[in-house]
Amino acid sequence: MSAVPQERRVVTAIPGPKSIELQARRTAVVAGGVGSVLPVFTARAGGGIIEDVDGNRLIDFGSGIAVTSVGASAEAVVRRASAQLADFTHTCFMVTPYEGYVEVAEALAELTPGDHAKKSALFNSGAEAVENAVKIARSYTKRQAVVVFDHGYHGRTNLTMALTAKNMPYKQGFGPFAPEVYRVPVAYGYRWPTGAENAGAEASAMAIDQISKQIGAENVAAIIIEPVLGEGGFIEPAKGFLPAIAQFAKENGIVFVADEIQSGFCRTGQWFACEDEGIVPDLITTAKGIAGGLPLAAVTGRAEIMDAAHAGGLGGTYGGNPVACAGALGAIETMKELDLNGRARRIEEVMKARLAAMQEKFPVIGEVRGRGAMIAIELVQDRATKAPDAASAAALAKFCHAAGLLVLTCGTYGNVLRFLPPLVIGEDLLNEGLDIIERAFAAL
Ligand SMILES: *Cc1c(COP(=O)(O)O)cnc(C)c1O
Repeated sequence: MSAVPQERRVVTAIPGPKSIELQARRTAVVAGGVGSVLPVFTARAGGGIIEDVDGNRLIDFGSGIAVTSVGASAEAVVRRASAQLADFTHTCFMVTPYEGYVEVAEALAELTPGDHAKKSALFNSGAEAVENAVKIARSYTKRQAVVVFDHGYHGRTNLTMALTAKNMPYKQGFGPFAPEVYRVPVAYGYRWPTGAENAGAEASAMAIDQISKQIGAENVAAIIIEPVLGEGGFIEPAKGFLPAIAQFAKENGIVFVADEIQSGFCRTGQWFACEDEGIVPDLITTAKGIAGGLPLAAVTGRAEIMDAAHAGGLGGTYGGNPVACAGALGAIETMKELDLNGRARRIEEVMKARLAAMQEKFPVIGEVRGRGAMIAIELVQDRATKAPDAASAAALAKFCHAAGLLVLTCGTYGNVLRFLPPLVIGEDLLNEGLDIIERAFAAL
């Protein structure tokens, strides 16, 4: 499957001497604001392994932040993108179009929820897709307000910073932010004051009340939500929340946008996470997992909404680059061929069983949650108060990194360890990674 040997190997300290040397060169010339989770320089990657310049092989529980679901050197992605590279790298779809872009739009129409007529526009990054979803929704509704949720994350451009909930590190010092953005509560079951079982009904009622009273539903162009909130801590809105919000949007002529940039393309064991409660969004934004690591993003939705913007109103020099489109077609081919939805569900089964057993043993684990291969554990200082424990999250990540397991943290309080393995990871590597996590807890 991958040319990179599928076994963990730690032959130096992590980071090793060559990575440390490269990191010194990097620090001299790369802006300090651009961070890295683990300053280990990559030599090659594929399957469930990242090999560094010192010859260490790390088990990958990050997928480059939910991007390389098919692996970082998937055969079909490499084959199709290489062939496209040799043919032509770019013409600009707005100058002379090409078939790959159309094929990706056809695939998106087929794979996204709902059997209505759908159209797509392609972009380079998730943030750009979200910005364009807002442009399209405003153009269609002739309204301005945009509603987002507590703990939501939508990107780092000016508008998407405004849409994002968390200040540090995303927004601090970067204002002023775009106007007409309003934030309302989300059904965060674990932290809902009256308990998870009430969160869906109570949070949706609060959100709808705030929208109605503070903004006026008739002023709202779009409601944008991640069906599983990613950076905010892998929060699955409690059951009933998403359907209530989607229904409210429908009744009030508001464009319901599912931001599936992190949760989409088999990550949660379905093509899109919103399918879990049968939600059919008006617009859906995708990026990350769509193209096996090549930069591509899309807005897909109801044809009449997508066509609302005037000709020439949407686009961008590189949007839907032909090499990225070829990569996407290779990634989608791989997802179908290897049944990566099934793989994601199997990963959930293995991980949840192991992590639940750890929760019995280690009181610092407040909650194990997530779906498919989008699994997280929320760490607390005390299970009664649920006081967030960011220090333990950092210590656990450090232990795992030193042992050759790449993990990421997230969460509004920085106290969530998140696991996003490539969906093609072997079960032996998956279990070995979990062994390391268990040792990390024991060592806390
Ligand atoms: C990562 C992410 C974005 C931003 O995508 P970029 O490609 O980094 O601009 C937006 N929304 C969600 C849910 C994301 O996870």
